[in-house]
Amino acid sequence: MKKIQMVDLRSQYEKIKEEVDAAMQEVIDQTAFINGPQVRLFADELKQYLNCKYVIPCGNGTDALQIAMMALDFKPGDEVIVPAFTYIAAVEVIALLGLKPVFVDVDPDTFQIDASQIEPVISDKTVAIVPVHLFGQCSDMESILKIEKKHTLKVIEDAAQSIGSVYTFSDGNQAFSGTMGEIGTTSFFPSKNLGCFGDGGAMFTNDHDLAEKMRMISTHGQKKKYHHHSLGVNSRLDTIQAAMLRVKLRYLEQYQKARNEVASAYDLAFENHPHISIPKRDSNSTHVFHQYTVKLNGVNRENFSKHLASFGIPTMVYYPVPVHLQVAYQNHGFQEGDFPVAEKLSHEVISLPIHTEMDPGQLELIINTINSFFQ
Ligand SMILES: *Cc1c(COP(=O)(O)O)cnc(C)c1O
Repeated sequence: MKKIQMVDLRSQYEKIKEEVDAAMQEVIDQTAFINGPQVRLFADELKQYLNCKYVIPCGNGTDALQIAMMALDFKPGDEVIVPAFTYIAAVEVIALLGLKPVFVDVDPDTFQIDASQIEPVISDKTVAIVPVHLFGQCSDMESILKIEKKHTLKVIEDAAQSIGSVYTFSDGNQAFSGTMGEIGTTSFFPSKNLGCFGDGGAMFTNDHDLAEKMRMISTHGQKKKYHHHSLGVNSRLDTIQAAMLRVKLRYLEQYQKARNEVASAYDLAFENHPHISIPKRDSNSTHVFHQYTVKLNGVNRENFSKHLASFGIPTMVYYPVPVHLQVAYQNHGFQEGDFPVAEKLSHEVISLPIHTEMDPGQLELIINTINSFFQ
């Protein structure tokens, strides 16, 4: 049996090697490594797929968040609402720009920001909400967008883990994650659902002026070469990465299906388990299962992961420390007990291997090994 990995990029590459190699070789032959034609082509194709007006590629998903917040002209001291249980990127960018992160607890079952707790923390300094569509499922966008309108805020969706997931509003309208707020951001980090062979990212928007501004900021604040209109950064998607992402975008739906099949098998195996809670699927969102994350109760998580590791099965904890308790953010005035759900989750969650290349034998071994831990 093939070695089980959290994500098997090697096997995935082998299946599409010819197409990927040809696409990358073409870039090498053209030597248009920066801003080659494939960057624009990829942005156009992703834009069509996501059914949004503008896709602006950049260097990585963290830059995408930074460029988005710079484009929205937030000023030092402005407050931005973020979930307490998430990847650090959005919080880091907020702090780097001199903004103030205001944390909100998450839903214990979907792991998404708890929209019912947003309004109480809105102040006259609040400028934005950053829902992070964690693990591949959309946050409660209907409630979040209602709050945004009522308080005239901005919404920046962090769709780094959720590209391709679809949200359905109560009126029946549907939209891809990352296309519902003013700006959506994503990452093409290799292990992401749409990953390249290095770093990459993008911003999405339906607003022409914001699109122009983000394009400008990502190229040193210049509109025309050597004419700088605003403070900017240097953040580009390499042509080689764009070329291979064009190939992988064509497989994205198929990859989502494969991930969902693994998730369904786990659901079926553990749905009535006394010590394992399977991830809740929100009825308003499809799930692209960037991670399959369960909660353990009455179980020593370390012993559980050691047991699986002894059978060659990796697991990961996303995330072991909620953001408000991270050492780097201790000066923001939050303490243990502030966000009980996030804190509890950080002790209970564990993510199982899920990727596009899992075979039935591997899946069976993982499920049997988990069951054997409880015997
Ligand atoms: C991966 C990730 C990012 C950052 O993406 P990079 O490309 O690594 O900078 C941001 N937010 C979330 C939720 C992520 O998972």
